[in-house]
Amino acid sequence: MGQKWNGGLNNGLSQMAACSNTYATRNLRPIWYFGTPIINGRQATEVAMDQFTQLIKDNGFRRSPRARIDWTYIPNIGSFIITTTRANTAITTTRVPLSVTVNAYQVDHPNTPVGVLIGSMLHSWLHRAGFLDPKTTSYFISECPMCVMRGYGPKLPATPDPLFYQYFD
Ligand SMILES: [Zn+2]
Repeated sequence: MGQKWNGGLNNGLSQMAACSNTYATRNLRPIWYFGTPIINGRQATEVAMDQFTQLIKDNGFRRSPRARIDWTYIPNIGSFIITTTRANTAITTTRVPLSVTVNAYQVDHPNTPVGVLIGSMLHSWLHRAGFLDPKTTSYFISECPMCVMRGYGPKLPATPDPLFYQYFD
């Protein structure tokens, strides 16, 4: 998430956009968006990043209701992961607080890599940016965070998608 590209100019094609373009083919449109049709994962990434910029500005300048980070504590049942972070899908583009609920059990879990937590958070924020589940293969709200979780690398048979998207809510 802290990547710079093209020598720090941050224009052109980011690894996140390139990776999302490869894997994300469904639910590319946030629910509030009725502009020029979004035809690929690269465009969806660009819309999402623009909307994150809007949300972070609104939150920082207090144009949104104050964001809340709530927490819960839900231990896993066996290997089945229950919430890591979750947020409701926002239906508007402005006055959207970046509120999330975090499962403290999952964050404290020593076996949860930080990249996985970042991907989980990104999934939650994509809900705040208006993108919808399902949280499965080929849907933008899964593929974009999974790109981050894989370090923008290709999918490998040894780590199937459900290992990643079990951290999405
Ligand atoms: Zn979700």
